[in-house]
Amino acid sequence: MQYRFVPNVQQGKASAVREILKLTQGKSMISLAGGLPNEALFPMEAVRSAADRALSGDPQALQYGITEGYVPLREKLCERMAERKNIHVGLENIMLTTGSQQAIDLLARVYLEPNDVVLVENPTYLACLHVLRFRDVHIVPVQSDEHGMIPEDLENKIKQYAPKMVYVVPTFSNPTGNVWSVERRLALLNACRAHEILILEDDPYGELRFGDQDGQAQDAANPQDPFPTIFSLDQHPDDSVVVYTSTFSKTVAPALRTGWAIADKRVIQMMTRMKQSVDIHSSMLDQQILYELLNATDFSLDQHISEIRTEYESRMLLMKSLLEGDDWRETSWTTPKGGMFFWVELPDGLDADALLRVSVMKGVAFVPGSDFYAAEAKRNRMRLNFTHSSREQITKGMHILAESIGEFVAR
Ligand code: PMP
Repeated sequence: MQYRFVPNVQQGKASAVREILKLTQGKSMISLAGGLPNEALFPMEAVRSAADRALSGDPQALQYGITEGYVPLREKLCERMAERKNIHVGLENIMLTTGSQQAIDLLARVYLEPNDVVLVENPTYLACLHVLRFRDVHIVPVQSDEHGMIPEDLENKIKQYAPKMVYVVPTFSNPTGNVWSVERRLALLNACRAHEILILEDDPYGELRFGDQDGQAQDAANPQDPFPTIFSLDQHPDDSVVVYTSTFSKTVAPALRTGWAIADKRVIQMMTRMKQSVDIHSSMLDQQILYELLNATDFSLDQHISEIRTEYESRMLLMKSLLEGDDWRETSWTTPKGGMFFWVELPDGLDADALLRVSVMKGVAFVPGSDFYAAEAKRNRMRLNFTHSSREQITKGMHILAESIGEFVAR
């Protein structure tokens, strides 16, 4: 059989990292690679009893549901978004998706045509680049620093390319961990409003904020919020230029595959229309479990988030102290204020893909930076995850990595 797959799928190269990681199967590996939450912190008991409650009543629990998602959970999320993100929207402005990854894909399907231009940070979230490549759009990187996209370059790129959409991860980005300043958020918003360019604000990590454990006050509808969502700065839910996406993957558990999109209702209607043909609806059982969890008397999501923040921050500080060691003096990085990653610049000329090949043989994996770039990839960058591994694994893994780097530098 001569299979005739569509060119975009055929050409999409298998991820080099996945290929390398395949080599490691069966070996015990310290992984600083994936953006995985720590399993030891999953609220197993609370999820189990939430699932019990979801399944102990009406058999409707196992029935098909509506495409937009389970209404009680959407209502609950509207309340939570108002309280914690200063996003005030109604039910018609929110839909549940199979992870926020699906929200990105649905929006791309309903909004982008081949040859449209999308602006991105460089580097940016790899799986969004994949979505955009499948849509055959031109992906144009905008110069960014640790405070966000540089407004002058953004203006130039808008003039030069007339983009239709901008994709950003403004709070604790993947891969860099950076967080945008309010000024840069406003500059993006104003530029996009002026030119009617849609902003996709992807916010899976916003709740994983370090530095102060008074999470509630910090996130509440509060003009002092240092990292307000771009959606809340716009605050025209009926005519918004922003589509906001987030997820329970990092705060509860990725296996429940529940994310959401918040947007103008015309956008939600189109994404819903598309979702009908993609998967009819996301798992109703997962959504009901989450609803029961959020309403549980013996579980508080805020408390849980506060606990994981504390734990992740302490692992981040451990990794930071190791990065400050003599072994790592040839590298540079900034301390993340939240999220899951350190983004490390290696000495000039050191190729992180080559380094990975060496380090996996010694039992440590990480993600080389080059795949995260839309263009002009820097090969001497690495992304290190500090949330998934134990303290002992982080310490051992970082020593092995430093040793592997040392071998390259000595060459
Ligand atoms: N956006 C970003 C920036 C991410 O890092 C991830 C997960 N790694 C997602 C979206 C998708 O997450 P999920 O589909 O699990 O909600």
